[in-house]
Amino acid sequence: MTTATTDKRELKRIVVKVGSNTLTNDAGAVDRRYIASLADQLSELNRAGHQVVLVSSGAIAAGRELLGLTARPKDMATLQAAASIGQVELIETYSAEFGRCRTMIGQVLLTRYDLDNRHSYNHAVNTFDKLLELGSIPIVNENDTVAIDEINFGDNDTLAALVAEMIGADIVVILTDVAGLYDDDPNLNPDASVVPCLTEIADDLLAETSAGGDAAGLGSGGMRSKLQAAKVLLDADIATVLCNGRDANVVVDAVEGKPQGTFICSNELRKKLGMNELGS
Ligand code: GLU
Repeated sequence: MTTATTDKRELKRIVVKVGSNTLTNDAGAVDRRYIASLADQLSELNRAGHQVVLVSSGAIAAGRELLGLTARPKDMATLQAAASIGQVELIETYSAEFGRCRTMIGQVLLTRYDLDNRHSYNHAVNTFDKLLELGSIPIVNENDTVAIDEINFGDNDTLAALVAEMIGADIVVILTDVAGLYDDDPNLNPDASVVPCLTEIADDLLAETSAGGDAAGLGSGGMRSKLQAAKVLLDADIATVLCNGRDANVVVDAVEGKPQGTFICSNELRKKLGMNELGS
């Protein structure tokens, strides 16, 4: 595998985050063919020597399907129960598709409160290190039985940032159902285009960005929660790519440095990665 603008060794640890809207088909059901393509891409990166962690939502969507619910439940206990039922189906699907690629996976269910506690934080770090050393791909979701943060606000964007900081990731690839961050609302302005690179995330950009910036419905995140996560990652010297998870080979291309969606990376980090500095 060749790398275009970044050195593979400098992008050793990769977090890939996929949201519910990207994982599901038009009927709202978990799209097995999409999971198969993710398994192919992440297994390819794994075999090429990268250490990959997947943060995946989709438990509630899978649970909804199994329970025969046509709309997202409104009360929290039903959402949590749907997540509990759906997580089994979700991880079974990942297990089958990664198994087809001969890639081992591990399931990690976490909350931010686990990471606030020094002991459980250290235990989680050790488990991630060992899972990666063993060549497996940890698949992380929020433990929705005991926490509701990502159900309410983030669709796992915040969790992905916390995991990336915890494992010392070099890059986070956030797969969404839009092409990246637009310079204007593409629904209102046909000339709106994707911003290819950002070196900082200003507070007014966050304030202007819609909380439901990508397709609403299945997940709870939007473009704002993705930018908030990217801002946390910028402060931790970790690059972020926001891109359309449905584009063919998008994860491998993003890691190889081929332009995909919006690349968010400070000038200091660009220098470390051997890239040109940009005006902000
Ligand atoms: N942990 C939840 C899930 O996997 C978060 C996403 C959501 O709110 O739909 O389904």
